[in-house]
Amino acid sequence: MIKPPPLRNDCFALPAGTHWTPVDEALATLRDRLAPITGIENLPLDHALGRVLAADVTALRSNPPLPNSAVDGYGFAGPMPEGAQVLPLIEGRAAAGIPFEGVVPAGAAIRVLTGAALPSGVDTVILEEDVTCDTFQVAFHGPLKKGANARRAGEDVQLGDIVFSQGRVVTSADLALAAATGLSELPVREQLRVGVLSTGDELIEVGQEAGKGQIYDANRPMLLGLLRQMGFAAVDLGQVKDNRDALEARLNSSASKVDVILTSGGASAGDEDHVSALLTEKGAIQHWRIALKPGRPLALGMWQGTPVFGLPGNPVAALVCTLIFARPTMGLMAGAGWAAPQGFLVPANFEKRKKPGRREYLRARIRNDQVEVFASEGSGRISGLSWAEGLVEIADDAAHIQPGDMVRFIPYSSFVM
Ligand code: AMP
Ligand code: MG
Repeated sequence: MIKPPPLRNDCFALPAGTHWTPVDEALATLRDRLAPITGIENLPLDHALGRVLAADVTALRSNPPLPNSAVDGYGFAGPMPEGAQVLPLIEGRAAAGIPFEGVVPAGAAIRVLTGAALPSGVDTVILEEDVTCDTFQVAFHGPLKKGANARRAGEDVQLGDIVFSQGRVVTSADLALAAATGLSELPVREQLRVGVLSTGDELIEVGQEAGKGQIYDANRPMLLGLLRQMGFAAVDLGQVKDNRDALEARLNSSASKVDVILTSGGASAGDEDHVSALLTEKGAIQHWRIALKPGRPLALGMWQGTPVFGLPGNPVAALVCTLIFARPTMGLMAGAGWAAPQGFLVPANFEKRKKPGRREYLRARIRNDQVEVFASEGSGRISGLSWAEGLVEIADDAAHIQPGDMVRFIPYSSFVM
């Protein structure tokens, strides 16, 4: 007769004497092993948003290109000494895009408008609110420094300056800077193509009639959406059953179509964990035992030269592993360099005890300047992923977090480039 195994106090205890790789060590390994793989293309500015720059980019023009007025007012040669000043006004004016072509004699002033190139003989401007004037003269109080209310040519950017560094992900503000400095296209990396494959006999597609024991594939829409937000080209590789041959065939047909494959499900060492078994058999680099919750198991392998992240099936663990491991790795492969997510120290409003020696991520959000965590740590609680606005990172060596302790909150937005 068989007996049930003895109960354990802590079913998450790390097995004694076995090495569990700390998260940072696992990340350092990935960082060392991978490199950019994407090609380079030039794209017009209106297609470059969110793309990774393939090279340093230099300004083709200074900003501003010419000295110009920062205000509406009157321009002359500065400085002006203390006391009442009365200057003769010369005829004409300088406006944005409509320069004054003549020369303003020393001691005279001219009407200038914001953005107007400063006429020859003008380097200083007085605000129109600070003067009285008639058709022939302008009067105001000194002193006024030379260059007041004027913008120097190139004070923002000089022709030939490096405006963007290689690896930068182009923002909308960057498009403004590129346009202002005379750039009409940018050298960018082609998008990294990332395939998403779900595995499991229980999975069905949304919209299908669910039979007994079947569940809708939740990981695939989540991961495809996340990848698009991260700026990658997300490729839907569909679902496969828990069947070794079917999985092998799908990986074979996918490997040449994409640069990276994310699978979910079947990554542990169980009877139906075919991703793990297949990767181990056919060239996995590593079966990772990472000191992380939620997260294990994670199977990492190369399939015909294409890296495969065998993510856990639990949606919470699948998301955490994607954010923590896959995302910086994919960023590196995409040419953006290795980027750690930006976190913020915020006081906790919760209490939590944990085993030291393991990193934990909890679904979290900030309310009233404090971090709150989702009521359940259950790895299948998809509602908590949706409730959360980020993750709180509990350090490897922490054992007891109390309300008021500072914890590191990482907004979801910090993970998308
Ligand atoms: P596995 O990693 O295959 O053992 O799956 C762990 C848990 O995650 C099981 O409860 C699965 O039913 C569930 N699961 C696996 N894949 C998905 C998926 N694509 N969507 C939702 N749940 C899943
Ligand atoms: Mg499964």
